[in-house]
Amino acid sequence: MMATEDGRNVNSLKEVWSREENALCADCGEPDPDWASYTLGVFLCLNCSGIHRNISDISKVKSLRMDHWDEGQVQFLMQHGNAVAKATYEAHVPMYYYRPVHTDCQVLREQWVRAKYERKEFTEPGKHPPYSNGLKEGILWKRGRDNGQYLPRRFLLSEREGCLKYFVKQDAKEPKVVVKIDTINATFQPEKTGNPNGLQITYLKENKTRNIFLYHQDGKEIVDWFNAIRAVQFHYLKVAFPVASDQELKSRLTRNFLKEGYMEKTGPRQKESFKKRWFTLDHRRLMYFKDPMDAFAKGEVFIGSDGHGYGVRQGLPTGTQGTFTWPYGITIITPDREYLFTCETEREQQEWIAAFRHVIEQPMTPQEYAIEAYFKLKP
Ligand SMILES: [Zn+2]
Repeated sequence: MMATEDGRNVNSLKEVWSREENALCADCGEPDPDWASYTLGVFLCLNCSGIHRNISDISKVKSLRMDHWDEGQVQFLMQHGNAVAKATYEAHVPMYYYRPVHTDCQVLREQWVRAKYERKEFTEPGKHPPYSNGLKEGILWKRGRDNGQYLPRRFLLSEREGCLKYFVKQDAKEPKVVVKIDTINATFQPEKTGNPNGLQITYLKENKTRNIFLYHQDGKEIVDWFNAIRAVQFHYLKVAFPVASDQELKSRLTRNFLKEGYMEKTGPRQKESFKKRWFTLDHRRLMYFKDPMDAFAKGEVFIGSDGHGYGVRQGLPTGTQGTFTWPYGITIITPDREYLFTCETEREQQEWIAAFRHVIEQPMTPQEYAIEAYFKLKP
């Protein structure tokens, strides 16, 4: 008798688990979730189930493979599931809000889960979370340019003024730096900064890239700042590009760097010894730094499209002079000159070549022609 009931239960669990709507993790979209919350009725990946354990008063998780499921719990899953949960907990996610995926860092994924189920920020319209009103002010820890020490600084984000500023003294009237909102790119960089809540703000000043590294010890606070910046940028873009769709505007909010890492480079005469530098490929901007956490790039190279004289080749030109220690060469061709790089491993070389190809194969937009012209003007 028991065996039959158990068997029926297992079959019901398999049925609801195999439904199309439950094929991806409810929170990060990773395929083939094998955990579930029997209080929220969602199917989760292992990582997200770990985050749910941090909100155990709301969500109770079990392994679909290893744990025993009783009939009531299976019934609950059958009546709920990812589609029902999404309709409830993601009913009113603002367009600009960053929805993390499984490759994103822990703080983004955790705050997304907390925002959805714990704070219920998206269940009904008209809620005004602190990132939504176009104005945010508070203390963030900013890395000093020279000594690398983090110090508290007052930051102010203003949609009306279209900028993000910071002040060195708490009561200072004049900001130390004013950054125009349309030039900001904010990305989480836990590995590079060595801080789980480390945020990198990149912006342009006189067409040169600058970096600011920030953190706040509270995960909610740093993710609120991140989404507040996105909210202001989204509204700025909506005014600047009134005919663009919301989806198009959203895709322009955060650019994850296409690739970062060390390579060696030689100078313009291609006879100099190669020097090890940290490279960042931010769409068509290839920047290099002495140290990954430098405030300024030592140099920037514009990477255009193949229809316009740009290309990438594996290896270095024969007869390359200048000494280098890393064996895997890359040659970047631009209308003006060739750039020679070397990588430590073949894998690094192939990843860089793939990243460069990805950019070079895309045709340039009118705006990118303007940026290219600006690069050519540079001394
Ligand atoms: Zn997940």
